[in-house]
Amino acid sequence: MIGLLRSLQRTAAPKPLEPSRIAIGDEVLDVVFRRHAQARRLVLRLNASGTGVLVTVPNGVSRVKALEFTARSRGWIEERVRRRGGLIQLAPGHVLPFRGISHEIRHLDTRRGVVRIDAARSIIEVPGDAAHVSRRLTDFLKTAAREDLTEASEHYASLMGVRYRRITIRDQRSRWGSCSASGELSYSWRLILAPDYVLDYVAAHEVAHLKYLDHSPRFWRLVLTHCHDAARAKNWLRAHGQEVHRVVT
Ligand SMILES: [Zn+2]
Repeated sequence: MIGLLRSLQRTAAPKPLEPSRIAIGDEVLDVVFRRHAQARRLVLRLNASGTGVLVTVPNGVSRVKALEFTARSRGWIEERVRRRGGLIQLAPGHVLPFRGISHEIRHLDTRRGVVRIDAARSIIEVPGDAAHVSRRLTDFLKTAAREDLTEASEHYASLMGVRYRRITIRDQRSRWGSCSASGELSYSWRLILAPDYVLDYVAAHEVAHLKYLDHSPRFWRLVLTHCHDAARAKNWLRAHGQEVHRVVT
């Protein structure tokens, strides 16, 4: 038993590599190195939001080599960051998409009040302490996402004759929503940044999974029967999905 444990320890994964950083324009991107036993060569890519660099490092390749590789890839990283566009801070002066429409963030110098959308002027007004604009706006967006997604989920659940157990709102980078076998729906709050019909489609899609936990023809028939904008929404997600990840909370 002890002998077995010793041999397991010898083959255990090597220590994680210390991360680094790279300055691109006026931005500093975190560089994260990940050891991968199956990797044949160094591979570099940006993370889902385009705000950091991920480097896959084969066993036997040193951190120094991985750093050199990152430095040689600078041109590629710059090009990707340029294509991604600037980051949107939740701060006064920045323009934020809300339900698919651009709104300028303004700080209101009043102690009281709630975050308010001025649709006519395309402005989001955030009252309170200037230091809390980002947090208050994040809370507002998550609450709005929960409200819209709950309404859409209830709507499709009643049309499709299914029930869900509960809805969770997260900041998922890799997916817009998910549905568990136990009937729990989970969505990305960033859907509130996308046009209404996109949020609506993601809800229809996840609610349809309460009936069919697959992507079979009968699943798609159910989605398309009740959600007529599905194709348009899928196109939007393909073309613009990454843009909502530019918003930094
Ligand atoms: Zn699905």
